[in-house]
Amino acid sequence: MPMQPSSPQHVLVLNCGSSSLKFAILDATTSAEIISGLAERLGSHSPLIKYKFQGEKHQLELADGQAHAAAIASLVQLINEQHLASHLIAVGHRVVHGGEHFTESVLIDDNVLSAIEKTAALAPLHNPANLLGIRAAQHAFVTLPQVAVFDTAFHQSMPKVAYLYALPYSLYREHGVRRYGFHGTSHYYVAGEAAKFIKKPLLESNFISAHLGNGCSVCAIKNGKSVDTSMGLTPLEGLVMGTRSGSIDPGLFTFLTQQLNYSVEQIDDLLNKKSGLLGISELSNDCRTIEEAAVAGNQQALLALDIFCYRLAKQIAAYMVPLQRLDALIFTGGIGENSDIIREKVITQLGFLGLNCDPQANLQARFGNAGMITKPSNTVSALVIPTNEEWVIAHDAAVIAKEQ
Ligand code: ADP
Repeated sequence: MPMQPSSPQHVLVLNCGSSSLKFAILDATTSAEIISGLAERLGSHSPLIKYKFQGEKHQLELADGQAHAAAIASLVQLINEQHLASHLIAVGHRVVHGGEHFTESVLIDDNVLSAIEKTAALAPLHNPANLLGIRAAQHAFVTLPQVAVFDTAFHQSMPKVAYLYALPYSLYREHGVRRYGFHGTSHYYVAGEAAKFIKKPLLESNFISAHLGNGCSVCAIKNGKSVDTSMGLTPLEGLVMGTRSGSIDPGLFTFLTQQLNYSVEQIDDLLNKKSGLLGISELSNDCRTIEEAAVAGNQQALLALDIFCYRLAKQIAAYMVPLQRLDALIFTGGIGENSDIIREKVITQLGFLGLNCDPQANLQARFGNAGMITKPSNTVSALVIPTNEEWVIAHDAAVIAKEQ
């Protein structure tokens, strides 16, 4: 008898922010994207859903003040109109903070919901928004399994020496104050792809992956597992980012409050929204704008790039302590996947690790092209690997849905 082609297995992936909702339907067997879009300005003036379907861009307007539930209701209508519902097997949710509860993706039930709720103290901007998305999706897709995929889960393999702050231990014991790390889904995905690239089992591979987008973090991956990462209790720690300062002297708090009369809210705003590339360049948080200005001779822009790259190179070098041996340095995220300038500036400072940039290969590995950007004769390679967090979420949700 001829084999029946198996029916497609589609997963709806939702990533809910406080005023936005990113969505996509992916084929969990081929990774093909069926539809993708973004609902923005949710809960405020002129909310809007923009989406791409069959190669064409569309948009839907929502009424003023409508928020996540309305966006999901419109999404359900769209899914029904385009006959996309019949192949859906699960909904996968990106959840920012899983605390110490979650070391892997899980099927959402009441216990999981209450654990995500409890963790909201550690991610007050993100987890409540993620919960809104989950509840709205549970209401809209009653029969589908809902799966949570956590940004922190991959880093739960970090040892105590990496995740504890040198603070009174009771803050950790009683309040969970420790380093958690973020971008875990991305670091996990690119590590898997890098292992395929160098043709070595992931569980025998050592990588340092640099996820450089609006938020930036580096992860030390030993035998396929995260052993250290640069973000901490919150995504503010570590590298210089678009608008975030990254690590600073905590004594700055006292200076800002006592000498300049800053409030806690003003300090939070300064460190999260006015610092980083934007703060130093006094121009923009967007790497492209800064690179163009630097090429045109803008000294503040050049300084911003230099500080960004110096801090990144220093962090990468520090991760040789837990790793001891490195197979490859990985660049990903909007900046990592596209900025040949930043990659070259970083690699040039890391020659002592055995890295040597190949300028031609570096220029070619942009706009979605993966590739090795060091010479094949180098002992350690640098790779550019476009990340795909949606795919990890779709894959995990499909695996968990099939187990039910
Ligand atoms: P997010 O963290 O919000 O997902 P992205 O991963 O999309 O962000 O990264 C956004 C960053 O990528 C911005 O700073 C943007 O300037 C940068 N970027 C995108 N394309 C390029 C490019 N061709 N050259 C340099 N930087 C780029």
